[in-house]
This record gives sequence, C-alpha cells and structure tokens, in this order.
Amino acid sequence: MTQPSAIVFDLGKVLVDFDYAIAAKKIAAQSGRPVDFARLFVDELPWLLRYENGELTTAEFVARLISLTGYTGTANEFEAIFGDIFTAIPPMIELHAALRQKGFPTFAFSNTNELAIRHVRQNFPFFANFTGYIYSHEVGSMKPDAKIYEALEHLAGKSGGELLYIDDRPENIAAGVQRGWQTIWHETPEKTLVAIRQLGVL
Ligand SMILES: [Mg+2]
Repeated sequence: MTQPSAIVFDLGKVLVDFDYAIAAKKIAAQSGRPVDFARLFVDELPWLLRYENGELTTAEFVARLISLTGYTGTANEFEAIFGDIFTAIPPMIELHAALRQKGFPTFAFSNTNELAIRHVRQNFPFFANFTGYIYSHEVGSMKPDAKIYEALEHLAGKSGGELLYIDDRPENIAAGVQRGWQTIWHETPEKTLVAIRQLGVL
C-alpha cells in the first residue's frame, strides 16, 4: 500500500474531548425556563446542525438559543459558555506533534462551528500547528457528505491513499474509505497509536 503523505485529523473525541452538558448546566443556572437541558445540545438539535452546516451565523444561532432557553446573561457570556466544553486528549496531541516533527502536513477536518473553533484556538496551543483547516460551517457541508471531503482533498492537493484519516465516527470513516483514503477508526489513543505504527508512518 502507498505510504500516506498527509494526515487528516478529526477534532472532537480525537484531539479534544467535549461535553455539551458543561455548557447546558451553566446556561440552566441562568435560565428562568423549564428546559430539558440534558437534551439541549444533542446531535438532533436542528439549530446546532444548521449552525454547523453554515446556514446560521453565530449571532443568529446565539439569539435563537438565548430565546429558546430563556438565558438571562448577555450574548457575549453565552458565547463564552457555549465554546468552553473542551478538554485536551494529551496522547493524541503528542501524536500530532510527532507527525509534524517527521515532516507530515496535517489537516484539521471537523464538523464544528465558529464559537467552538474560537475557543479551541484560544485555549489549545497545538491547534495552531496544522498545515490547514477544513470546517463544516465554512464549507457549508458536514461529514459524511462528499463535498467537505472534496474540500479537504483540494486544500491538501492530495487524494486517495496519499491521505491518512483519523476519526471516531464510523460513518465519517466509511466516507473516507469510499474515496480511497487510508483510515483509522479512532476508538482509543492506544489503538490508534498501534495502527499508526503498523502503517509505518511513525
Ligand atoms: Mg469526532
């Protein structure tokens, strides 16, 4: 098999963990309304999906969520709370650094939104060290749709087995496999490190 010449990283649950319950609790504490906060930011929330698909601006999304939740703080406070849901996954951040040191171009490839990226950029120094970034809200397409994969190939100037792609969602990995990308379905840092070594990349 071809040796990959660029590495594509999903962000959430691969390089940083996230928990929307952290934001939901803080918003609930400043809300006068009986909202089911456990369900507030689950994947099915149509406003969040539309926001991450680039159909809503940050201002529109925040205004809708404030009105939905009865949040009594300011929009700026809401934005800070909404972004502050991430924690580092150190072994994966070290893997990214080791791959960069070996000279591999690396790409962040994420279904995400402007507030999340703003927070991650400000709080996680490793995030500045990618070669390039493809975000769903900028492309107007979410994994596993083909359009966002095409955007990654275009940015990287690579395709098929030249790309090695790490993601925790099987449906996203399946879409990469369909394009001929080499893939690692990320379950744990330990398993991903074994798979990386088996590919002879590190
Ligand atoms: Mg993920």
